[in-house]
Amino acid sequence: MRSISHRNTLLSLLCCLFSANLYAKSCEFKAVSFTTSFETAKLNSCEQLSDNHYLLTTDAENRPINPSPWYAFKVELNEAAKTQQIKISIQAKQSKPRYLPKMSIDSKTWQDLPFVIKDNQITFELTLTKTLFIAGQEIINNAQYLSWMSEVAQASSFTQIKLGNSTLGRPIDGLISQNANNTEWLLILGRQHPPEVTGALALLGFVDELAQGTQLQKAFLERFNVLIVPNLNPDGVAAGNWRHNSKGIDLNRDWGKFTQVETALIKAKFDNLLTGSQRIVFALDFHSTQQDIFYTMPTDYTVAPSQFSNDWLSKIKTETVSSFVVRPKPGSSPGRGVFKQYIADKYKVHAVTFELGDNTQRELINHVASIAAQTLVEQMLETPPQAFIYSATAP
Ligand SMILES: [Zn+2]
Repeated sequence: MRSISHRNTLLSLLCCLFSANLYAKSCEFKAVSFTTSFETAKLNSCEQLSDNHYLLTTDAENRPINPSPWYAFKVELNEAAKTQQIKISIQAKQSKPRYLPKMSIDSKTWQDLPFVIKDNQITFELTLTKTLFIAGQEIINNAQYLSWMSEVAQASSFTQIKLGNSTLGRPIDGLISQNANNTEWLLILGRQHPPEVTGALALLGFVDELAQGTQLQKAFLERFNVLIVPNLNPDGVAAGNWRHNSKGIDLNRDWGKFTQVETALIKAKFDNLLTGSQRIVFALDFHSTQQDIFYTMPTDYTVAPSQFSNDWLSKIKTETVSSFVVRPKPGSSPGRGVFKQYIADKYKVHAVTFELGDNTQRELINHVASIAAQTLVEQMLETPPQAFIYSATAP
């Protein structure tokens, strides 16, 4: 063990601090470097604790914040060094760890790393022979969304559209299916919170299923228009933010207020689409938390049809494997700027925040996402148009 004073000397010589991705550099040590020069990367400081042990820190973009300490970085072996056995500890400033370490050679295929958590630090060991990506979840960056949308559009009747640009000028695109005779809209939203990757995976699976073009899905798109915005916070995604956009604002507290470029451009799209008899009949917003949870509007809220979400969740429960637990959590939080609440209050229809567990098995996420899409299609087709119209005097 090196003494504290020795370590401090080392620290001042070797440790570098960087405050934002824009200024991303390497943290270079004798044998290894930690790099953040790619989208979604996040690391705020590095320190060498001993010959082979490094302490890395992640800090929030701003505070107060609902803490979801994200980290993503590349670890590289320096030229002179051969194989290195190293130990990495990750610590989040003022927060407990949330995301468990994964590694990848190409940033596409990921593998869980064995780890221990002690004193709020996650520690794991690596045998380093080449450059590795380490991240709290699989990396899904902005470019991946754009290429995925283009693939879906090529293979289905959906069209990729540009909704606008983020605060920092990144494209916010969507997928749309719109027939001239349709008046009812399904809305699907994702990635308001950058590190919520399991929610992002579920959205991709859900939309892939919806775009399959089966007989039932064709019937669905003949009656319903669909707008999908999979990645509302590309600046936050690029910067590896814990939760906020580039202005330090939680987008899921801005609905109805529309102070942010990202939420305001969706509002502008609604204003443009929802004229005359055009109306939203259901909306779904994908997130992640500790468990799989469906945040619904209460059945006695001013939304129609009152049992819609319950009926849909019953279908999901029947159709999914028994290892998936359907947890409905009805609730209402007026005035907080939450998307689901805004849709319910403004359009008098149900909306659901679909939360996937951070550690839910990826195969299960895929399965649940496609069942959720199939059963929603059925549930919406079974609901007559007038049933989606709220009436205070309805039974
Ligand atoms: Zn969220």
